[in-house]
Amino acid sequence: MGEPKPPVPAGEERVTIESEHLAAIVRSSDDAILSKDRNATITSWNEAAERLYGYTSEEVVGQSVAILIPPDRQGEELEIVRRILAGERVEHYATERVRKDGTRVAVSLTASPIHGAGGEIVGVSTQARDISAAQQSEQQMAGAFEGAPIGIAVFSIEPGSFGRLHQVNAEMTRLLGYTQEELAAVSPGELTHPDDAELERVLIEELAAGRRSSYGIEKRNRHKDGRWVWVWLTVSLLGIDDPPRSAVAHMFDISYRKSAESELKQVRTNLERSNAELDQFAYVASHDLKEPLIILSAYARMLGERHGDALDEEGRTFLGHVRDEAGRMKAMIDDLLDYSRLQTRAEDTQTVELANVLDLALKTLAPRLEETQARVDVEGRLPSVEGSPAQFERLFRNLISNALKFRGQDAPVISVSAEHAGGEWIVSVRDNGIGIDPAKAGRIFDVFQRLHSQEEYAGTGMGLAICKRIVERHGGRIWVEPAAGGGSAFRFALQD
Ligand code: ADP
Repeated sequence: MGEPKPPVPAGEERVTIESEHLAAIVRSSDDAILSKDRNATITSWNEAAERLYGYTSEEVVGQSVAILIPPDRQGEELEIVRRILAGERVEHYATERVRKDGTRVAVSLTASPIHGAGGEIVGVSTQARDISAAQQSEQQMAGAFEGAPIGIAVFSIEPGSFGRLHQVNAEMTRLLGYTQEELAAVSPGELTHPDDAELERVLIEELAAGRRSSYGIEKRNRHKDGRWVWVWLTVSLLGIDDPPRSAVAHMFDISYRKSAESELKQVRTNLERSNAELDQFAYVASHDLKEPLIILSAYARMLGERHGDALDEEGRTFLGHVRDEAGRMKAMIDDLLDYSRLQTRAEDTQTVELANVLDLALKTLAPRLEETQARVDVEGRLPSVEGSPAQFERLFRNLISNALKFRGQDAPVISVSAEHAGGEWIVSVRDNGIGIDPAKAGRIFDVFQRLHSQEEYAGTGMGLAICKRIVERHGGRIWVEPAAGGGSAFRFALQD
């Protein structure tokens, strides 16, 4: 059992207590509360009214309520009183009032009748709430909504359909080509491209079922003029209704990006096709050139063997040149054939331990390494990369055989190392050879480009072009730098 209840006051005493309670509530209310008689003369005024309008109770009680009403709204108060006298309700009536200092304030008014002892209406009490802050933020939100550079629409979620658009901003009407009124009458589904409709239908269904709260897709919408416009659309649920009832769509025009993408795709396809055609051409041309060359070499050989005696010294020298040049041309054609065959198809790709393919290259080059008394140092660990083992072996073979060919006075010292930087592996092959003039270093990776004559150093000028192609086919890049202490450092970078 709790405390015994205090005795319930009765009669006049009770009425007095209740009126005092009510008066206290009115006094401390946050809303400005004033009462006026049937002639619109102010009869009471609480503290919040003083704060809102700036007049003290002494200043206004006995005055006409007209002092609070802007000149352009004078008729309004009479109308409110008339409605109350007629028994109507006046609630949340948004209007403006004037403060003592002459400034205007946006208010929401709720008026109710004051009854006399006999039940007749003797006056009206008005509650006013300052709504200027709310109104200002509403205006700001409306401005942000209308002026947003992306299309915004609020729509209802209706199971089994794409819903209905309720509120759309200016950019949305521009994107779709319809006025706000027209859009209210169409279902967004009617504007969706048939190829995108199924995906979006499923997403909206998931949204309606509460299985997701938002989605984002690229889709096509039909503009009023009939063209399809690519947009990026995000849709998010609004409110906390269960099941969900409304959502907001944000739409962004991506047609420019889409057309740039498809142009790029087209350019890429054309480029790939023309590259493939070029490779095919190089392959066919070198293949077909080889046959007459083999015959030419064979006749030159037979000429020397069978009729060499009939030639004088000069004739035999010329014949020697013919055979040498035919041999050189054959080497060039073979390299060109190799070059045109270099493709990295997905099925060739595997994990390649660079240390292993380097070993293989060194084994192939063993006789020349011995002959030149070369030393090859591998500094640190070489990484493993994705690609074609045969091609990486070829890459090392070409670089190291160049280091042997273009050696200086001293026996060749070649060092191979790798470092990891910026998400890629940079592999270096350094030598102590004759070095490369940095001004000419750019072109040595081009097909048939050489910096020396045949007499100085024999070669086809294809070795580094093949290296470049191998590295680029693996998504990397290759370059040369002068090595510290003379010589050259060839470097290639591959994505980790
Ligand atoms: P080739 O060796 O048949 O001439 P490459 O394409 O391998 O063709 O090389 C092109 C040119 O680059 C060479 O002729 C040479 O002038 C220069 N070069 C290549 N490697 C080196 C090197 N390690 N040191 C100095 N020069 C080099």
